[in-house]
Amino acid sequence: MAQKRDYYEVLGVNKTATDDELKKAYRKLAKKYHPDANPDNKEEAEAKFKEVNEAYENLSDPQKRRMYDQFGHNGPQGFNGAGGPFGGQGGYYSYSSSGFDGFGDFGDFGDLGDIFSSIFGGGFGGRTSSSKQRGPRKGADLNVRMEITFEQSFLGVQKEIVITRDEQCNHCHGTGAKPGTSPIKCPTCHGTGQVTGVQNTILGQVQTTRTCTNCRGTGEVISEPCEVCNGKGKVRKQPKIKVKIPAGIDDNQTVVLRGEGEPGEKGGAKGDLYITVKIKRHSIFTRKGNNVLCDVPITITQATLGSELEIPMVDGSKEKYKIPEATQTGTKFTIRNKGFKSINSNSAGDFIFTVNVQTPKKLTKEQRELLVQLAKTMNEQPPIKKRGLFG
Ligand SMILES: [Zn+2]
Ligand SMILES: [Zn+2]
Repeated sequence: MAQKRDYYEVLGVNKTATDDELKKAYRKLAKKYHPDANPDNKEEAEAKFKEVNEAYENLSDPQKRRMYDQFGHNGPQGFNGAGGPFGGQGGYYSYSSSGFDGFGDFGDFGDLGDIFSSIFGGGFGGRTSSSKQRGPRKGADLNVRMEITFEQSFLGVQKEIVITRDEQCNHCHGTGAKPGTSPIKCPTCHGTGQVTGVQNTILGQVQTTRTCTNCRGTGEVISEPCEVCNGKGKVRKQPKIKVKIPAGIDDNQTVVLRGEGEPGEKGGAKGDLYITVKIKRHSIFTRKGNNVLCDVPITITQATLGSELEIPMVDGSKEKYKIPEATQTGTKFTIRNKGFKSINSNSAGDFIFTVNVQTPKKLTKEQRELLVQLAKTMNEQPPIKKRGLFG
């Protein structure tokens, strides 16, 4: 496929669309492009259908939507340090449409209504069917918050956090069975994971199939459980995880460590770890977009005569900056490219400082004398400025 289209564009909604609006747009388009509804141009419809599904899958999940709004299709560039703190996995979420298994899954559905109930019933593409439940399942994602300083968000930081998650029991290697024994076929369902029953209803006898409660659908039971994990195959652990926070990260943005969440089941992939960053307020700097803002006090003589100022930068260095004669209070000056690095590109924001002319509160005798002399030469009140018609 050529360039990927924007998910919002695909669904024909704007960026502020509510969940309801997304769902509505999605239902409409999925119906329109469903391959069964387009027998004449199946291929094209299929491609559209896939695109629509992918867009909805990403935008309907608040976390994925936030990541997409933040990083777009590609995720942030340049921080995928292979072999780095992310264990070579690449640090950020990538937008593969893992939940969509292609069209095979839709073959079972006769009409479109069934598809929707299946999609909105929590699973995708028939995932809720028992056959899928017995297959590999991805582990749950974990969410943590992390507080960092303003400087750390500016420079980037590597931190260690302790999380709580399940890990494979080393004693039984995750089988849950006492070492030396192995799980046996479930006697209740004979290994099928399902039990069939007959129910008497007013319409006559109806055959029902339910997930076996004895083995919870796995088809296997443990006769002698592992004494370390009590047959669960996993144990609660509190591992330390290294997290690399990239320079330029903003408040409420999220770093994703793939595969650091809860373990999967039946050989499924591990979940992901989402770390949402909270940035502490700084006493002198604030952030706006990628720009750093700062108020700088100056004296009346600096303002009047012009001066070379020393401006503190976020990284601890100082920048010399010449302000001109007759600088008015409230004037903004910009030091280019000294703001936050952009996570997506090589560009950087600016450092913008606003000067505040301070009226001196304490004067020496000499200073007071000089000011009195000065006042004598300019003791006329300046005219009150007229505002423009539209000012
Ligand atoms: Zn065990
Ligand atoms: Zn069973």
